[in-house]
Amino acid sequence: MFTQSDLQPALTLAHCQALDVQDPLRPLRDAFDMPSGVIYLDGNSLGALPKTTAARVAEVVTQEWGQGLIRSWNSANWFTLPQRLGDKIARLIGADAGEVVATDSTSINLYKVLSSALSIAAQDAPLRKQVLSERSNFPTDLYMAQALCQERGFELRLIDADALAGALNDQVAVLMLTHVNYRTGAMHDMAAVTAAAHAAGVLTVWDLAHSAGAVPVALKADDADFAIGCGYKYLNGGPGAPAFVWVHPRHSERFWQPLAGWWGHATPFEFTPDYRPAPGITRYLCGTQPMLSLAALECGLDVFASAQAMGGMAALRAKSLALTDLFIALVEQRCSGHGLGLATPREHTQRGSQVCLTRSEGAYAMVQALIARGVIGDFRAGDGHEQPDILRFGFTPLYLGFEEVWNAVEQLRQVLDTQEWKLPAFTQKQAVT
Ligand SMILES: *Cc1c(COP(=O)(O)O)cnc(C)c1O
Repeated sequence: MFTQSDLQPALTLAHCQALDVQDPLRPLRDAFDMPSGVIYLDGNSLGALPKTTAARVAEVVTQEWGQGLIRSWNSANWFTLPQRLGDKIARLIGADAGEVVATDSTSINLYKVLSSALSIAAQDAPLRKQVLSERSNFPTDLYMAQALCQERGFELRLIDADALAGALNDQVAVLMLTHVNYRTGAMHDMAAVTAAAHAAGVLTVWDLAHSAGAVPVALKADDADFAIGCGYKYLNGGPGAPAFVWVHPRHSERFWQPLAGWWGHATPFEFTPDYRPAPGITRYLCGTQPMLSLAALECGLDVFASAQAMGGMAALRAKSLALTDLFIALVEQRCSGHGLGLATPREHTQRGSQVCLTRSEGAYAMVQALIARGVIGDFRAGDGHEQPDILRFGFTPLYLGFEEVWNAVEQLRQVLDTQEWKLPAFTQKQAVT
């Protein structure tokens, strides 16, 4: 629980404004179209709109599609866009060029890589029949794994994060984890967990939905086996943007992926009746890719290219930690005595780019009251037992400033002090929380 801390000097608005003045990443904020009057703390769920996206998508529609018509598959290089965007994503996640494709959704890509991992396990270690994951993993990951396990004769075993080390035994074929937990913002040590898994003979599948573009990721250096991630969260690709998939080169050509469509064929335009997989990551494509959506995703990725000149992911990480540290400290100083708890680890090495507050009652209404005041976060329901309800706030270092963090906490303080959240309008549940 948050209690007033006497040890730290009180933070001030002027201090937060000074942090903005010193922020080397501050110019990146101008790369985004933000509605006025909004403090956006939900970029971990749907990233903001880059200023270039609308014109670029319009150009693809009117010029490349409208005028170029089918010629644009060649003349506008549409056909290789999944690989070219994959190369841009690779730089953010510690992979090499040619190892990533932007395609399909996170759920579908998880199906592909988990299936490949199970095929490898079935061949190399046929007695291992378990897929291990965390009970608090994102539900779609668990649902896809359940379905695949049923189909392939495996068992999905769910544990809590603290039981991980003891659970890696000779029954386990694949460890499937989300790097940064969507509910709590807790982050796994990818290098250590992967090393422990490999020492136990277990393959790793990492979901980077809340990591890519938010925290430095080093897939190759950490020796991961498979990874997938999301295009519409920190990568700012737009609602339903194509996701991505990475497979370590030692595995990428061992098996077909199960959704073996013609875009993953070695020579799709020979139209042969039998499937021959393309070399490398290209075989993880399935069918015709959505060019309008990929064009929008590229605009999001190109903001990271600008960030590269300002220190890249290391600078973004430093700012993200400063933003989340500031938020925690301000909530602690200004919102104590209101029954809020902290679900996110304080330890930097264990924290992603979000802060989750807990409250036994009223969390949903508090989030709604904040949204009415222009502070957009979101709510994640607890399970009614061990997991409390959560007020979730994402901090996107590309476009968020320190003064905004001050103002967001000030709005939260007012919502709590006035008990405004108890108004009936704020308790009405909407379809998307
Ligand atoms: C956001 C998220 C997804 C989303 O999957 P979709 O297929 O895009 O709906 C999947 N897994 C995790 C861990 C996520 O955070």
